[in-house]
Amino acid sequence: MNDIIRLLPDSVANQIAAGEVIQRPASVIKELVENSVDAGATDIRIYVKDAGRTLIQVVDNGKGMSETDARMAFERHATSKISSAADLFTLRTMGFRGEALPSICAISQVELKTSVTPGEMGTRIVINASRVEIQEPCVCDRGTCISVRNLFFNVPARRKFLKSDNVELSNIMREFERLSLVNNGIRMFIDTGGRSLDLRAGNFKQRISDIWKNNLNMQLLPVDIDTSIVRISGFISRPEFARRRNPLQYLIVNGRNMRHPYFHKAIVACYDSLIAVDTQPNYFLKFEVDPDSIDVNIHPTKHEIKFENEQQIWPILQAAVKASLGKFSAVPSIDFNTEMVPVRPLEEGEMAEPPTIDVQPDYNPFAPSAVPSMSFRHTGRSVPASRTHFQADNWDSLYAGFMSESAPAADLGETVAVKGAGQQSLPDMEDAGLIAPICMQYARKYIVTTSREGLVVIDQYRAHLKILYEGYMSKVTTGGYVAQGVMFPETICLDPEQAVALDEIRGDMTRMGFRIEDVAPGRIRITSIPSLIRSQDVRDVVTGILDSVCDGSVNYGTGGEINSRSMTERMALVMARSGAVARGHRLSPEEMEHIVGELFSLPDPSLTPDGKRICHLFDENRLEHLFG
Ligand code: ADP
Ligand code: MG
Repeated sequence: MNDIIRLLPDSVANQIAAGEVIQRPASVIKELVENSVDAGATDIRIYVKDAGRTLIQVVDNGKGMSETDARMAFERHATSKISSAADLFTLRTMGFRGEALPSICAISQVELKTSVTPGEMGTRIVINASRVEIQEPCVCDRGTCISVRNLFFNVPARRKFLKSDNVELSNIMREFERLSLVNNGIRMFIDTGGRSLDLRAGNFKQRISDIWKNNLNMQLLPVDIDTSIVRISGFISRPEFARRRNPLQYLIVNGRNMRHPYFHKAIVACYDSLIAVDTQPNYFLKFEVDPDSIDVNIHPTKHEIKFENEQQIWPILQAAVKASLGKFSAVPSIDFNTEMVPVRPLEEGEMAEPPTIDVQPDYNPFAPSAVPSMSFRHTGRSVPASRTHFQADNWDSLYAGFMSESAPAADLGETVAVKGAGQQSLPDMEDAGLIAPICMQYARKYIVTTSREGLVVIDQYRAHLKILYEGYMSKVTTGGYVAQGVMFPETICLDPEQAVALDEIRGDMTRMGFRIEDVAPGRIRITSIPSLIRSQDVRDVVTGILDSVCDGSVNYGTGGEINSRSMTERMALVMARSGAVARGHRLSPEEMEHIVGELFSLPDPSLTPDGKRICHLFDENRLEHLFG
């Protein structure tokens, strides 16, 4: 039998390679611009005709090529960027495969003009479908100018696959945006015939707003975290600017754009429930990692990157994004609009006192009426002490509605009437001169109130959860947990996973005030609980805590995050969850005011401990925008 294996001629091999590297005009731009970046250019100009079908020209002021290099550049696997396999793991350049130029010249007519030294002759090379037609000295500026004409002229099948001019042009513009974003320190210019864009060199934020103009600046929250394995910096959009279509989502690793579905998911998850289900946030994030901890070489167009430390980066990324959402989101520090609330002016001789917190020295945590306690810290001007201090029984009644289903009073549709319509015998805050917001409940889920910054809509369950959580945590730090005996101890059957979890955290639970007795294998009895939780919640809280140890993902969103939480935080979260006023529960005006007052005296009122959005602000601008 005859031998049938043959080596493909270079021109055919290059065409095949071109199939992978060059899919459309935009890919030519990507490859040429990346070469210019690698050549140290500070000014890159791109000219495009007929959506790149007839001409793509890239002109740079980089270091240029010598006569020999200019010729070599078109050879397959010719690259100045790596010389050994080991270099692959310390890459700082965009290119390294030595494939782009030979691929491009296999499927088009290329003209190269390049010069290394200003004032000296440069080199001009013309190549037609991989065949060198002209090589001669020429006069040109320092740098490189490559013109690619008649793309796919010799591969009709590929040419046929090109989309309409508009689609190809928009691909080109998208590629240009990506390249300019990454290279914000380089002046970037593009002229596509009908349209041109000139971007000055600037910082990352300037570049973002120069590219997308439309007020994007306003929408951005900075992100910055530096750890030993990664530095993540850049910007994310405020949740209220999430987009239904074409979200701007950029991940840049060591100066390289990349797709990374895993990290994308990590970011989007942070916005969970802050944005509508069918919308997506914008983000522009740069990762800097040790080059030898990533592998760029897994995809011919180098759009994908493999990280060595993906698992460790996930929680860092989420922590950075959540911190930024929490710290900078447009949530007011509840600077209440006092114009709307009558405030009694000080009488002559009356002194303004600092706000006080009531302490009840004879408070007995073992008393049946003991409830999760929260103190009311008002932010307004105080009045004589006798009028601001509520008695403990008032507090009980204030919380009566939280403990039992309150009487279904006249329900005005979905909305409960405002202040003054309360059905309980509560201290009248206006009379007391407290500056408190006017609150309404909507759909038995949301508290609507106003602040100086605008209209605030608060999720009642999340707000209360946050208040309880912070209360528990501050008790931990001040050592204020008190164990409280349970009148009718509950016996709880544990499944094997929960039993293992209990072994792990029994000490922590005891420190928090749980007394746990082993009745039989897999059965425990709880004889005392932290004074902060209600006895009817014991079963839920204990199993909730154990489950949170067994399965971090159920309670804390991601497996990665759980490690970063202390056991105490997890327990506090579970207890807060079971104690928080449910959605669907009717709140009295006073309860709402209390929640609002407490919430906004916390350092970060906008997000729950598990990163969910607690409130939304509708300021004048936003309302005007809504009303067109
Ligand atoms: P790679 O970028 O993977 O090395 P290319 O085929 O894109 O492969 O380029 C081949 C070589 O040509 C590069 O390694 C570089 O030395 C040289 N080169 C290409 N474009 C330029 C440019 N604009 N300025 C200077 N040198 C260039
Ligand atoms: Mg290249």
